[in-house]
Amino acid sequence: MVVIWRNKWQRIKKKVPRVKMPEQDPDVRRRNFEEVPLGLTPEMAIKEASRCLQCKKPACVEGCPVSVDIPGFINKIFSNDFAGAISTLWERNALPAVCGRVCPQEAQCEGRCIVGKKDAPVAIGSLERFAADYERKKGSGKIPAVASKTGKKVAVIGSGPSGLTVAGDLLLKGHEVTIFEAFHKPGGVLVYGIPEFRLPKEIVASEVATLEKMGQNRMQFRGGRLRHH
Ligand code: SF4
Repeated sequence: MVVIWRNKWQRIKKKVPRVKMPEQDPDVRRRNFEEVPLGLTPEMAIKEASRCLQCKKPACVEGCPVSVDIPGFINKIFSNDFAGAISTLWERNALPAVCGRVCPQEAQCEGRCIVGKKDAPVAIGSLERFAADYERKKGSGKIPAVASKTGKKVAVIGSGPSGLTVAGDLLLKGHEVTIFEAFHKPGGVLVYGIPEFRLPKEIVASEVATLEKMGQNRMQFRGGRLRHH
């Protein structure tokens, strides 16, 4: 049973240990190339979210390169509002399923988390991953809210993490985006440089599909542009 503490002081007094994400058993994982960590269940995510103190000046956000509203999305998870959590993440980050897996959280958001001064920091990356995976598997099918069309067109060269991030930001602001990529699939280093057991290709493809939905015909991907003909 998940015990939920309704306010900050109860949370401090009760001290919940950091929830450990389940992983494939070593005997099983040495026989496959699938992802090793298995993700949090909703109950685990709510329990881990209960460890966040909802700081008024959240140091974790200062440690985040894209300034995600970390206490905001964690509080939504805590309140069982998983759709709200992914919407909050999308406001600043078009690739939450990727970032929840491969961002160096220990040096960024989690490295600044106040809980980490005396205990293990809040597992911000695992919670981000949970919100994105939940939306992908069981979510409402909603897409990030975008501004109305500006009529402006922007070409993005390369579809690696920076190209996809900037494409997401431009789409949010209502611009039309065309991504030009030398290879046939979008993702760059996310697809060609990170092994499947660390970042499944399916996750990258799903993030790109979300960008395409956000674009509502205002995003195009042009792959295989390595040579001039
Ligand atoms: S610093 Fe830690 S405890 Fe404070 S809001 Fe951020 S995640 Fe929560």
